[in-house]
Amino acid sequence: MKHDNTIVSYNKIKHLSCTTKMPCYSFSLPALLTCPTGAKLRSLKNSTCHYCYGLKGRAAFPDVKSKKARNYRLIQNLPLFIDTLTDEILNTRCPLFRWQDCGDIISIEHLEAINQICLNTPTVKHWLPTMENHIVRHFILKHQKFASNLTVRLSSKLIDQIPTYEWKYSSMVSRDVKQILNDKAKFNGENFLICNAHKWSDRCWVCSGCWTFKGIIIYPLH
Ligand code: SF4
Ligand code: SF4
Repeated sequence: MKHDNTIVSYNKIKHLSCTTKMPCYSFSLPALLTCPTGAKLRSLKNSTCHYCYGLKGRAAFPDVKSKKARNYRLIQNLPLFIDTLTDEILNTRCPLFRWQDCGDIISIEHLEAINQICLNTPTVKHWLPTMENHIVRHFILKHQKFASNLTVRLSSKLIDQIPTYEWKYSSMVSRDVKQILNDKAKFNGENFLICNAHKWSDRCWVCSGCWTFKGIIIYPLH
């Protein structure tokens, strides 16, 4: 995969983030405030949201918090959100984009706006992980399909819970990958891919499985 190393002016990407792990820019929102499902799961010790990385480490830095707050204000005006993100994503000149490196989708209108941004940026492949299955279902019932350059991936809510969604792009977090793979029958014939970023200095390098893999991605808990 080709990555463009052009240095992009901060002014042109004021709503985007760049994590060390991912080979692209991303958009983040405040955890819990924008997580209808995550806010309910947070206190459950066996939930993935109990380990939410959006509430600890670098996420607690004032500059990171203020960007998320700014982004939250932006999504209150969805037409402006669409125009702004379309411009900023095109300005990155990067072939990949990640939605919600923190936070989630809060409404069908929010998801429709993200889908419109994907339609406006056809040269970019987008990945949107979400816990909000009912919003995704609502979108599909209303529009039948997403933009062809958008992969919406449904995340399993509990640790070691193998997703059984009809939707074929999903993911789960596992405390013990070896054990979960002991009984492959539990995958019911679904394809799965184990994320190896933790073996690669916590970076994706050339892997773009989150965007492209049709099946279940297993992220080891660490
Ligand atoms: S959905 Fe993501 S950001 Fe929200 S609480 Fe869960 S892990 Fe955190
Ligand atoms: S599956 Fe690939 S793209 Fe996704 S997080 Fe792991 S290394 Fe990165």
